[in-house]
Amino acid sequence: MINQNIQSDLVHFPDFHSHQKGNVFSIFNVLPDDGIPDQCFSWGIHPWYLNENWEKEFEKIESAKANPNLVAIGECGFDLIKGPGPKLQMEAFSAQADLAKKLGLPIILHCVKGTHLLQEYLKNHSEPPTIIWHGFNQNPQIAEKLLSFPIYFSFGKAILKQDSNAQQYLLKCPLDRIFFETDNSDIPISVIYQQASLLLGLSAGQLAGQVEENWNRISKRKIT
Ligand SMILES: [Zn+2]
Repeated sequence: MINQNIQSDLVHFPDFHSHQKGNVFSIFNVLPDDGIPDQCFSWGIHPWYLNENWEKEFEKIESAKANPNLVAIGECGFDLIKGPGPKLQMEAFSAQADLAKKLGLPIILHCVKGTHLLQEYLKNHSEPPTIIWHGFNQNPQIAEKLLSFPIYFSFGKAILKQDSNAQQYLLKCPLDRIFFETDNSDIPISVIYQQASLLLGLSAGQLAGQVEENWNRISKRKIT
């Protein structure tokens, strides 16, 4: 017990998708009006803010490609509850996925009622970039069908909820496909790691090592 406490004081818990600036070990997700932060960040066109003029925003993202702090493209993806028509969403996603592939960076995927669009994309692209489905809280069967593709899963506050889809899938997900995040919640990232640690029977430090290894395997821009 004492050892574990000492360990968790020394271990950094990387947060792979956050809307709060200022944590050294987190990837801050840039949304319109945020400005480029002085830390690791992901940048993409969220389907909520997607419109006919998306190519202008895309050019801005492309022009940041040499910034070593840009470590992922996104969050971007599909949202059929809040967002424009599916054709526009597919066009913008494909462009961003191509950019991610070209840069050797992963996509941070936002996907709400859009699994069929993700599947359609994967069917039509034989070499997709690595995709991290952020805030995963869907039926585990959906995830299992996607494991033959380079798809990873980032777990957040939904794993705190008893028997949630996220909790169920975390127990089944291959360890080399997992990440953790806070997204837009105020819950500290350490709490997410502690919960995953309880569920999986691995120390939070082991989990931190695992996700760091996962990241450095899939992204050209490493976190240390
Ligand atoms: Zn988010």
